[in-house]
Amino acid sequence: MRSIQTPVIIASVQRGAEVLGDIEIFARCVDKPVIAITGSNGKSTVTSLVGEMVRQANYSAGVGANLGIPALDLIESSPDVYVLELSSFQLETTYSLNAQASTILNISEDHMDRYSSLKEYAQAKAIIFNGNGVVVINAEDPIVNAFAKELTDDRTVYRFKLSEPENDHEFGVLNVAGLNWLARGDDKLFPVTDLKIKGQHNVANALAALALGTAVNLPISAMLNALRIFPGLPHRSQWLTEKDGVTWYNDSKGTNVGASLAAIAGIPANKLLVILGGLGKGQDFSPLREPLAVRARHVFLLGEDAKKIAAAIDGAVPFTYVKDLDEAVVQAKLLAQAGDAVLLSPACASFDMFTGYEHRGEVFMQRVKAHNP
Ligand code: ADP
Repeated sequence: MRSIQTPVIIASVQRGAEVLGDIEIFARCVDKPVIAITGSNGKSTVTSLVGEMVRQANYSAGVGANLGIPALDLIESSPDVYVLELSSFQLETTYSLNAQASTILNISEDHMDRYSSLKEYAQAKAIIFNGNGVVVINAEDPIVNAFAKELTDDRTVYRFKLSEPENDHEFGVLNVAGLNWLARGDDKLFPVTDLKIKGQHNVANALAALALGTAVNLPISAMLNALRIFPGLPHRSQWLTEKDGVTWYNDSKGTNVGASLAAIAGIPANKLLVILGGLGKGQDFSPLREPLAVRARHVFLLGEDAKKIAAAIDGAVPFTYVKDLDEAVVQAKLLAQAGDAVLLSPACASFDMFTGYEHRGEVFMQRVKAHNP
């Protein structure tokens, strides 16, 4: 999608043209509740999980937009509730969406080849809070929190965080007798260990989904059913196989540094062998340095921006350049020890070598299978 800063678009606007994105046209057409989800990472997971919550409550759900079915195509089936994943690109040209519940899950660097600053990128995302619906805020994200302060006093705000919730507007984690629970205020709702989606980032995703569902009055039992059955999406910290004590994970959807940091922190293993690289989109790779120094046995670098990642991690963790995923899998298998995990989480887009993250993930899964018969 073209940036609205493209000269031809600026010139058209100066001549009086209106720039309408598909979500703006959608917003002008629909009369059913909309749950709107954006953020740098976790959008697809939360959107799918909330969609499942809606279905478990016996409503029909129109789930899509940036994920799967385009928003305008959802209208035809006239669902009871829309659950939309929205990108910053889509929000740039959205003006009158008034979601019944909306969230920015988190903000970390992405698409720095399109925006002049993190602030500009975050401001595009904040358009999701337009209107008067319930706002769901990540209490642990300073940028998202700052936007919450700009909301008018009459807005209902729910917060989610990984620590103890302080009141019933907060969703967090309660430790009771050594067991961690997803909780709202003092109410224990669901044992963290019963979630099929793993890692702290997915605990945050589950809490965000609970807050969004609560904001549109879904019954708690339906939301908990969804948490119990939701298996996660392919290409997101996806468990593939275990062979000779080594576990293999496909996180091809880890397309920016923030996503890969979550995967690196969330994968259970003694040491990790991490495959990184692709198109870096102008990101700063230095936040990877310390976590890799602590958790990784070895790093394999591929793709166009491999050298940029190398410069950021040099001296902190051993690394090798590889020409493709097959070579990465072969080398990782040689170096991995029992108790380790091999993780593809590139922190980069895939278009230098693949048609998209799905293609990259498929190739990886195929290679893992071929070398672990
Ligand atoms: P998105 O649709 O925003 O790209 P996904 O749900 O598809 O998000 O997840 C993409 C990747 O981002 C995952 O593979 C995982 O590594 C990471 N991730 C998921 N949820 C979070 C989160 N809440 N915080 C940080 N990283 C996350």
